[in-house]
Amino acid sequence: MTAKPAMLPAMFPLGQPAFVSHALDRAAHLRTDPERLMAMEDDPRARAYVVHRDSMILAREGDALRPRLKLDEARRLGANPGTVFLGLRDGAPVFGMGIAADAVEALLARADVMVGNIRALVTEGALAVEDLSAIAVAKSLVGWHQRHGFCANCGARTRLSQAGWRRDCASCNAEHFPRTDPVVIMMVTDGERCLLGRQPHFAPGMWSCLAGFVEAAETIEDAVRREVLEETGVRCTDVSYTMTQPWPYPSSMMIGCAARALSAEIVVDRNELEDARWFDRAEVALMLKRQHPDGLSGPHPFAVAHHLLGRWVAQAGAEAVAATAG
Ligand SMILES: [Zn+2]
Repeated sequence: MTAKPAMLPAMFPLGQPAFVSHALDRAAHLRTDPERLMAMEDDPRARAYVVHRDSMILAREGDALRPRLKLDEARRLGANPGTVFLGLRDGAPVFGMGIAADAVEALLARADVMVGNIRALVTEGALAVEDLSAIAVAKSLVGWHQRHGFCANCGARTRLSQAGWRRDCASCNAEHFPRTDPVVIMMVTDGERCLLGRQPHFAPGMWSCLAGFVEAAETIEDAVRREVLEETGVRCTDVSYTMTQPWPYPSSMMIGCAARALSAEIVVDRNELEDARWFDRAEVALMLKRQHPDGLSGPHPFAVAHHLLGRWVAQAGAEAVAATAG
């Protein structure tokens, strides 16, 4: 048997999925200071993350990859100048930049540069944890600018303002702000069992928590109860908040919750899920460690679902210790 060891436990310890550990001071007061912004672009300590859709551009130095490029280095590769001011890192300005598809194409052949899929880089541990939050901001905002060139109110062309944190329409004066889309993701339990689902695009054998977008004028609690009922027919109650994770695909906020099931029978909505079923706690523990005898696995430690499941598994350990001590 060739059970793989738990992946990257040191990189994403329990409670800290990807994109949550930030090294940036967002320094929002500087977004409205054009003189300081220009000076920061000329600062020799300034660095940029260059992103294109789900990928980013990294400098390759021997075996090492460097995600933060000098601004002139980024421009020489074809990145647009100072698109978004992300903030300050140890006092040095950090920017997010987009790059055109044909410029990316030209980089593919170069030995000193790598065009890497961000998600793959994260799961392979090729990026430092403290870079991930800033990369998520860059990815989310650069993508937003690329998709919002025209005013949703009047259709005229919009322009970037507030150092990349707003787009303005000169025709109707509308101000457009980047959106964050709330998604609930929930640990539904029934005593020693929890409810997990499989989406068709998941890797074979992988199961995860149910999730879905919060709808207009809906509470987080209602969204959890509705999504679980729609996808599996299970009714639940006692919804509580656990933790959040920014998810820049393209700009979601994963709101990790817990809920208690009131019913057990599962009726899977096959339009949403490939399958759903109950798993006992011992089974989930093996899935997270990738030691399940049938090869089943849980979500990767970079995703919040891994941490929701991990906490639930750890809780049993704590309860057992408490019971023994009692
Ligand atoms: Zn307009």
